[in-house]
Amino acid sequence: MKRTAVLVLAVLFVAALCGAAAAADTLADAKKKGVFVCGVKDSTPGFGYIDEKSRDIVGYDVDFCQAIAKKMGVKLELKSVTSASRIPQLIAGNIDMIAATMTKTADRAKQIDFSVTYFFTGQKFITRKGEVKKLQDLAGKRIGTAKGSTSEQNVKKALPTSTVLSFDDYPQAFLALQQGKVAAVTTDESILANILAKAPDKTKYEIPNIQISDEPYGLGMRKGDTNLVAFVNKTVLEMEKRGEAKKIFDKWFGPKGMAYHMARTFKITDKKESWEK
Ligand code: GLU
Repeated sequence: MKRTAVLVLAVLFVAALCGAAAAADTLADAKKKGVFVCGVKDSTPGFGYIDEKSRDIVGYDVDFCQAIAKKMGVKLELKSVTSASRIPQLIAGNIDMIAATMTKTADRAKQIDFSVTYFFTGQKFITRKGEVKKLQDLAGKRIGTAKGSTSEQNVKKALPTSTVLSFDDYPQAFLALQQGKVAAVTTDESILANILAKAPDKTKYEIPNIQISDEPYGLGMRKGDTNLVAFVNKTVLEMEKRGEAKKIFDKWFGPKGMAYHMARTFKITDKKESWEK
């Protein structure tokens, strides 16, 4: 009787271990199902936004998801996420990977794993033309940004006397600027510049040369999903080597880009951020 109980326990234990291992191998699961689910933004021009003609979500982040799914030999499915919802959606298993303008931080790395840095930018402001020359010109002012972003945290530190208004996304924060409800919108320059480029009244605004942080972007995966992390890193490093990563950059930000011409000052390498082990 006792031996049977031990045997049953042992079987249950092994089954639980197998279950845990299977749950953590998103790469194997995606190959089995034939689909890879990427969480992307749908209102962030240049990275993930709805194309007016095709109504598809397109952008730099979408192209990286596409290349990774293609390399896996599976179909890509896109799900919309916001800055605040992306990590909870990943942890809940609703998406397999985050490709959503997400900065790699030591704090976020406690919850999820990151790929190598695949995009690099820094946090700035959009203001009305001629109003802001230096950071302190924004002290005590109302500033719009997005909930759950590093932009929100950085601006609170850089301008402790300002009032930070957090929206679901950056176009909503920009609308608040257009309506005179805030003095500035703050987030990554790459996002600000693309929002501004698309605005019909863009000549009224500018992005002063005031940068308050570095923002290296990483693709986010579940903690301990080591096969997927290795596969994604290998794929994006190969994309860099073959010139495919630069082609995607040029498509969205380069001379032939949709909106905003940005110099590519980074290369995708396996160099770690200072806090990464
Ligand atoms: N890259 C920053 C972040 O990860 C700001 C852009 C965003 O909200 O996605 O929070």
